[in-house]
Amino acid sequence: MTYKEWFESHAEKHRAIVEKLGDLSDEELIRYFRFENMVKREPEFCPLYKTATKCHEMEVLNCYLCACPNFRFDDAGMKKVEGKTLFSTCAINAKEGKQFVSEEAIHQDCSGCKIPHREAYIREHFSRDWREIMKHSDQSSSNSG
Ligand code: SF4
Repeated sequence: MTYKEWFESHAEKHRAIVEKLGDLSDEELIRYFRFENMVKREPEFCPLYKTATKCHEMEVLNCYLCACPNFRFDDAGMKKVEGKTLFSTCAINAKEGKQFVSEEAIHQDCSGCKIPHREAYIREHFSRDWREIMKHSDQSSSNSG
């Protein structure tokens, strides 16, 4: 699955859940997206829910802003870096972020970063419209309109 395919699929899943929960307050909605609740109530939202595995070890892991507003990607490649294709980056160069580098490609590695999973961060960037929060993520020309 490409980044773009995942992004579109995830946007739709997020939209459907938020729409279903229209009666909840913003704070109730954020709490609904806590990992333990999502595993029980929304098993299709994330593949890791099937085994109740947290992507990051945190006491309060919140899934509302998966992926991350700071993630940037282009499936066609953003640019060449020392002969390798750069496919994704972190807009804020978070110190917890890393790069996964292979012979031909460079991808952003967010496995060590908890920033978008913290509820204080989610409140700060909150919108019921996930696409609005993530609007800068897709850097491909197909997203220019
Ligand atoms: S490194 Fe952290 S802040 Fe940067 S894109 Fe990844 S999850 Fe987001």
